[in-house]
Amino acid sequence: MQQQQQKEGENERTELNSSEKSQFIVIKGSIFDGSEYYQKGVVVVDSSSGKISQAGKESEIDLPAAGKSEEKISSTSSDLTILPGLIDCHVHFFGTGTYGLMDWVTTPETMTALRSVADMRRLLYAGFTAVRDLGSKAATYLKTAELEGAIVGPRVIPAGRSLAQTGGNDDPLMLPLDISQRLSYSYYCDGPWECRKAVRLALRDGAECIKVYASGSFAQGSKVRTQLSVEELQAIVDEAHRAGLKVAAHAYGEEAMSNVVEAGVDSIEHGIGLTEEIAAGAIKKGIFYVPTLTPFLANKSSPLKPSPQREAYVQRHLAGDLEIAKSRGLKIANGSDFVGSQTEFHGHNYVEIVNVAKYFGNEVALIAATANAADCLGLDKNGRIKKDYAADLVIVRGNPLEKIESLAPSNIVAVVRKGKVFKPENVI
Ligand SMILES: [Zn+2]
Repeated sequence: MQQQQQKEGENERTELNSSEKSQFIVIKGSIFDGSEYYQKGVVVVDSSSGKISQAGKESEIDLPAAGKSEEKISSTSSDLTILPGLIDCHVHFFGTGTYGLMDWVTTPETMTALRSVADMRRLLYAGFTAVRDLGSKAATYLKTAELEGAIVGPRVIPAGRSLAQTGGNDDPLMLPLDISQRLSYSYYCDGPWECRKAVRLALRDGAECIKVYASGSFAQGSKVRTQLSVEELQAIVDEAHRAGLKVAAHAYGEEAMSNVVEAGVDSIEHGIGLTEEIAAGAIKKGIFYVPTLTPFLANKSSPLKPSPQREAYVQRHLAGDLEIAKSRGLKIANGSDFVGSQTEFHGHNYVEIVNVAKYFGNEVALIAATANAADCLGLDKNGRIKKDYAADLVIVRGNPLEKIESLAPSNIVAVVRKGKVFKPENVI
């Protein structure tokens, strides 16, 4: 039965591919290609391959013959901007109604999956064509369902379960250990060999990157401690790299920051406690910096209890870390840390890009959400508008380089994912 269904699906795809009538989609407008901005641009998408077949100024483009192309998106007043599809390097598909550790671990997995399917759709129509999930029970399955075409959404690069020490970050300490191990979205590991085993377990689950907690966070209270030793972190990095996976490290505090740079992770998440020395080490090793500003800036409305310690961390981040990151020229990648709750709902993730722009400027924020994000995730031929690159695009009204808020979902005219056009009027 299953085989028959698959066959029918294949026939359908072949029929679509052989339809020459609409093989090419022509999109006209100003272009931000991941590094440069220019007006009077054209992008020609080959919908059969899902790739960009041509991109450049109108005068340089050899338009496909009439009958083979369909001009789906254009504007005579040239008020549209075509950008590479947006990328969020740090989300969680927790599918919870409210924001809190107990909800994150105890929400029934079917409920998480159902809510996350809706979140995937919202993300796509909000212009996000790729997201990296850094720890959840749902993401490896969402990735597969999206690739199969069972659901619509961005490409998901899942970490599967994250890695943390026993009693470490987001281990619900109020629960008996065996219950916590059963319900948590992390694998708890202690010592280099257990750490290697945890990487292998994540790989078995379908992880395409590894997430490790090198410190606690505010979810367990305001006291944040360094977690996992350099030796343990090095074992994780070595095992992940041997499998071709990148490692994203959650780090609060100078000691954790220094440890993850020494261990050679690929991106620092949150990154509170940057010093000149740590920044220099990160640059030398090509490590990306994902500052996840929105949850910190949402201090007042955050469901996490404000405390003097939390306030001190946040101030250090906003006033000190970002200044060092800017002056040193760290590679910034966009990551909202949205979890899909009522307060951090997917589909609203452009807010992080707006917040990055407040500190680094609009250009850096756009690069962080496109070209740099693709590089941070190791996505081949992605995050840029160039010939033979993935036809993952977002088309917005206005110019985000001048007004970053143009990326808001209400300004989105269309999203292209794998060469297929999605228009916001279809959002449920
Ligand atoms: Zn996170």
